[in-house]
Amino acid sequence: MALLDGKTILVTGVLTESSIAFHVARLAQEQGASVVLTAFGRAAKITSAIARRLPQAAPVIELDASNQEDFDALSTRVGEHTDQLDGVLHSIGFAPRGAFDFMNASWEDVAPALQISAYSLKALAKGAEPLMKPGGALVGLTLDASIAWPGYDWMGVAKAAFESTNRYCARDLGPKGIRCNLVAAGPIRTTAAKSIPAFDRFAQWGEHSPLGWDISDPSPAAKACVALMSDWFPATTGEIVHVDGGFHAVGD
Ligand code: NAD
Repeated sequence: MALLDGKTILVTGVLTESSIAFHVARLAQEQGASVVLTAFGRAAKITSAIARRLPQAAPVIELDASNQEDFDALSTRVGEHTDQLDGVLHSIGFAPRGAFDFMNASWEDVAPALQISAYSLKALAKGAEPLMKPGGALVGLTLDASIAWPGYDWMGVAKAAFESTNRYCARDLGPKGIRCNLVAAGPIRTTAAKSIPAFDRFAQWGEHSPLGWDISDPSPAAKACVALMSDWFPATTGEIVHVDGGFHAVGD
């Protein structure tokens, strides 16, 4: 039996084939799941084209994380394709360029980062909840926010808020049998990563990781997301699983 046999998963954040979400969607299908994707704005055309490159073409619905109306309409839009969601992947991150300059960033730079990269986890959980049953799982992606990284700046602050949001989601959805967990991935070369001005400074990650780390391989993070959506983590919630080659565990 495959890990996600009979399950239906909502996957946000597929932009290109390099997106971590694309690999979660691919692996989820390979593990027996049906997949519905979300896309937003001008990227929707690209996402629809990429959706056809999955093992099975997946339907795409609209979701702009800065638009509350989209969250309000989420269960109706998903409901056109399935009457139940067993898993939901949050793979959305955005911060304006000014947010990557900590001391000079304005609130106008910071507010969208917090809304789209952190608050959206709660909004997604609430939007998907009407279709979720006990045993369901919400999974998101973070870059370990317990320290201040060079060049990550207000995106790092947004990730800290995101990690806290995950714990509150776990608190409030746990009584309904819904688990909420994050994967703290090491750096992966994606579109979002390229927009981080200091991303290249992460290139040495593998040298400081006991297991090494391949910046061009999203599959370890994607596998962890699929595992967390499966029935094999039935008593785990509010957790952050590091998938970083072990970087977080060792001193330099
Ligand atoms: P990506 O660029 O492929 O994915 C980011 C996604 O966010 C895109 O699909 C984009 O369309 C979506 N998005 C941006 N603004 C949005 C909005 N207003 N509404 C809806 N969607 C919106 O890059 P990725 O690296 O796969 O990023 C996915 C997640 O993984 C992000 O949360 C990111 O912070 C996290 N992450 C990435 C890395 C890395 O090094 N790439 C490491 C750890 C965590």
